[in-house]
Amino acid sequence: MNRRTIIAANWKMNGDLDLVEKMSASLNQVKLGNNVDVVVCPSSPYLTVMANKLIHKNIYLGAQNVSEQASGAFTGEVSTTMLKEFSVKYVIVGHSERRSIYKESSVLVAHKVKTVLNAGLTPILCIGESAAERTAEHTETVLAAQLQPVIDEIGIEKFNEVVIAYEPVWAIGTGKTASPDMAQATHHFIRQFLASNDAKIASKVPLLYGGSVNAKNSEALFAQADIDGGLLGGASLKVDEFTLICSTTKGSL
Ligand code: PEP
Repeated sequence: MNRRTIIAANWKMNGDLDLVEKMSASLNQVKLGNNVDVVVCPSSPYLTVMANKLIHKNIYLGAQNVSEQASGAFTGEVSTTMLKEFSVKYVIVGHSERRSIYKESSVLVAHKVKTVLNAGLTPILCIGESAAERTAEHTETVLAAQLQPVIDEIGIEKFNEVVIAYEPVWAIGTGKTASPDMAQATHHFIRQFLASNDAKIASKVPLLYGGSVNAKNSEALFAQADIDGGLLGGASLKVDEFTLICSTTKGSL
């Protein structure tokens, strides 16, 4: 099954106008594999500037979060309608920092996924286990518990329009990457879990790996059968390294 390869950049609360300028200029020149898309997710204030600067046809803009509400008295929140006005196509939903620091439950995450889909945007749904959960061999239970509320909320057919990022919490920003074998085994589990609902849909869902991906380890990780690219934090803030990863990612044939 040919799936598109996606390299997504999560800048988190980092970056400035200078980085927007330099990253856009660098990415606009990049030669991507036929099957490769890039998604850059800066902080909300930079979306509009970046929308005007990014002109590469396979490079898209993404947001790091969105409200599950449509509009109204929700101070500090940003709606899907607003994101769409600035050419946003993807939205990261349920990043582990949103789950742990801002206490987003899997049910809220599921509502957000639905809101994003209803707006015609593509959610990048993040799931992943903590170090303690992996040590206790609870990884699969945890991932299933994060996925099931989304399946219940949107139905398995809608996963046709969803990207999943598997991000083991212990690998995010720590320099500890899951080995290609370990990441592949977990991605395989995720695909099988979706397949138990619908095998055809499961075979089409792009599954990204996230957690300390860099220019040295990306090739081996992205070469795995069930790994369709990555969600990158730290490395996505480095213009040369991120551009290199994008340009050297082959994508599936
Ligand atoms: C992330 O924040 O989604 C992430 C994967 O970060 P890093 O690449 O820095 O581990």
